[in-house]
Amino acid sequence: MAADAPTPMFRQYAEHKEKHKDAVLFFRMGDFYEMFRSDAVEVSRLLNLTLTQRQGIPMCGIPYHAAGNYISRLLKLGRKIAICEQIELPRDGKGLARREVIEVVTPGTVVDDNYLEEKSNNYLAAVAGEPDSPVFACVDLSTGEFMATRLAGGTDALRRELARTYPREIVVRESLLETDGYVFLMEGEAVLDRLPDWSFDAASAEETLKRQFGTVSLKGFGLKDDDPLIPVCGAILDYLAEQHKGLLPHIRNLNVYGEDDSVGLDESTIRNLELVRNLQDGGSGFTLLSAIDHTKTSLGARMLRRRILNPLPDAGAASAVHERVEALYREQGMLSSLRDVLAGVLDLERLAARTAMDRAHAKDLLAIGASLSRAEKMRNIAGDELLSDPDGNLDGLFGDLEQTVRLLDDALLDDPSILLTEGRLIRDGWDEEVDRMREIRDRGRAFLNDYIAEEKAATGISSLKLKFNRILGYFIEVPKSQSERMPERFRRRQSLTGSERYSSDRLDELEAEILSVGDRIVEREKELFLDVREKVKKSVPDLLRMAQLIADIDLIQCFAHAATEHGYIRPEMTEEPVCVITNGRHPVVEQHLPHGSFVPNSISLSHQEIYFALVTGPNMAGKSTVLRQVALITLMAQAGSFVPAEFARIGVADRIFCRVGASDNLARGESTFLVEMNETANILRNATSRSLVIMDEVGRGTGTADGLAIARAVCEYLLHHKVPRTLFATHYLELTAMSHTHLANFSMSVTEERGTVVFPKTLVEGPAQASYGIHVASLAGLPEEVVTRAMDVMSDPAAAGDGDSQPGAEAAAPAVRSAPMLFDPKELVFEELLNLDTDAMTPLEALTAIVQWQKDLLSGS
Ligand code: ADP
Repeated sequence: MAADAPTPMFRQYAEHKEKHKDAVLFFRMGDFYEMFRSDAVEVSRLLNLTLTQRQGIPMCGIPYHAAGNYISRLLKLGRKIAICEQIELPRDGKGLARREVIEVVTPGTVVDDNYLEEKSNNYLAAVAGEPDSPVFACVDLSTGEFMATRLAGGTDALRRELARTYPREIVVRESLLETDGYVFLMEGEAVLDRLPDWSFDAASAEETLKRQFGTVSLKGFGLKDDDPLIPVCGAILDYLAEQHKGLLPHIRNLNVYGEDDSVGLDESTIRNLELVRNLQDGGSGFTLLSAIDHTKTSLGARMLRRRILNPLPDAGAASAVHERVEALYREQGMLSSLRDVLAGVLDLERLAARTAMDRAHAKDLLAIGASLSRAEKMRNIAGDELLSDPDGNLDGLFGDLEQTVRLLDDALLDDPSILLTEGRLIRDGWDEEVDRMREIRDRGRAFLNDYIAEEKAATGISSLKLKFNRILGYFIEVPKSQSERMPERFRRRQSLTGSERYSSDRLDELEAEILSVGDRIVEREKELFLDVREKVKKSVPDLLRMAQLIADIDLIQCFAHAATEHGYIRPEMTEEPVCVITNGRHPVVEQHLPHGSFVPNSISLSHQEIYFALVTGPNMAGKSTVLRQVALITLMAQAGSFVPAEFARIGVADRIFCRVGASDNLARGESTFLVEMNETANILRNATSRSLVIMDEVGRGTGTADGLAIARAVCEYLLHHKVPRTLFATHYLELTAMSHTHLANFSMSVTEERGTVVFPKTLVEGPAQASYGIHVASLAGLPEEVVTRAMDVMSDPAAAGDGDSQPGAEAAAPAVRSAPMLFDPKELVFEELLNLDTDAMTPLEALTAIVQWQKDLLSGS
């Protein structure tokens, strides 16, 4: 086709595409969805489809009945899809069909189960505000969850929220992306919806929110009059309303949360601790989540994931969860019955959301009924003590929902159709009119059978049969051999190879009666079904509350079962910054080793005694594992779980920081060393006296001299700023010369067995003696010749000149052992003295301070 003379069809295509520039347009043509131009080129490459041409224009297509699969793949790849259907075919079969975009499917707004991951929330986020004080909102349309927060911590805090929620799509104020601080949003995986600035207008946003929640004020949600959260919350709702034609009645509440409502976990901590995604391939294998996920419902699985990413910051709250876990742990019989009952509970949240959005079919409604019956059993087994309902009115909730169960039981067939257009929805006895019409239809069928029997007798053709198909309707079929014997009153309708098909006036008459009553039944059943659905829709808020109740109990049983399966114990919780773990294990590593072969390790850190553990030891000796295990045990305890140890006393952390290894972030285009320093800077800036800090191999990404200097300065900074729980692993043995009252050296033990070095994986007190790099290299299979040569060079650096390398390169490392501390203890004591609030001190506190300074000065000299 010449570009200057588009056919009417292409003109129509171009009009729709113009309105949906940021989406792939699925253009329905007969039994196919066709894509054209750049859409075709891109999608054919992404989905491996054949690219063809139509009048010189690139195109590719997919059969309409297989569209689901392709849509799902495109959504995963972060594409939006606009579905353009044929609304009206041309009457005479010629000319253009009328087409309209009936739905735009986007990664953050899908609600269809086929496109959603069962065990994760599917968030749509929105961002606004200046880079130093962003505002963030987040909705899961498939469950109705809606939350928002103001982020005083700038874009670092925003990155943290994004890492936690992992939105698939982000609504953002267009002009924001021109600000340097927000450029990183364009490099992420989520689809960006750039909305014009006026979409974030405060006044109309306020109206949108009030309308959505049916309130006259937003104060009840913790929003001030000119709250910066209002525009961002309004914009996200407007965007959803546009996508889903305003059908969002299940979004009933807005949870405005603060940064201290859960333990702060930044992006690199979430990544490095492999909480929900592993570092290898981003999958869920080998993660904390997969190691402890014993939930039975997708409601519980999603709650567990959220809890791991948002642990409880409060010792009392964590203990309260442990209390319930323990109660169930002690009742193994109850635990196992509860697990059986929960196994039959379906995704009540998403079913409720689909009902609210007028998308639930009859089987969805029955699934709600079945899940509610299970919930009743769950209550009987667990008892009200174990259930945690913030509204405290369990009888009311169960009572109201019982009505829903009864309604569904009485109204719907056991195995209904999932369509509205073919009847088979409503149970006999529910509606007199349906019953009467069904009787007429059945009588008509009986008449029909009688009539066929009559004709068989009259014609004497015993092989004469009554049949039905969608094209011909009812017809009579006889074998070809018998067709001669068919009397005049039969009209031939179709000839097949072996048979002939007929109709007759009487047959037409009976058929018309049956079909017309059939149509009326379909209509009436549809009407009744929609009525039932409207009634269920009224109980959506109750259904969502019930879903919370089930998710919560599923989480408790998951922890109790994990404790039973993996031998976890209940940790003691305290607000003091301590961490005492006796014979702790790494929850993930231990599951991937033969039973009993994981070597447990103990550690004790406290603000009053040793709070800085410097861990040295060769590579492969188990440093990273022991470090991560301390962080994971702390996090598990704060998530409400029991922990892999013989004893644990955990002081709740306000934040957990974990910098492990020199992970590369090529996707962000930053160098390894820069990433390492960014992450380190973030820790130093944000760690408080209540934080837990895990640092592994800081300073590795640069040369030995400055790497060592940086590592040492970081250690001293953390000691100076009294972050009372720090584990710092390093291969720089020079650091073990540091001395401080609160610092202790630990190392991974090394022994020799029959001439070979072995690492028993035990953490012992005292610094490592050597780095054993050459032994590890030899274990890794470096050729014998290289190993021997390395040993020679080690024992006599001068001999290195015999090889090709520069002599004594390593010897150039500074003699850090004799270097002074970067933070002079005298200065520190001086600074503390100046900052003392003497009016507020008791004589005893003053004395304690003096004793401490003496110790600091002595240890630093
Ligand atoms: P490092 O950080 O010192 O290089 P890692 O912690 O990475 O060492 O551990 C090296 C290997 O040893 C890992 O593959 C891990 O599975 C195994 N390992 C670590 N700690 C233990 C342990 N306590 N018990 C058994 N195996 C362990």
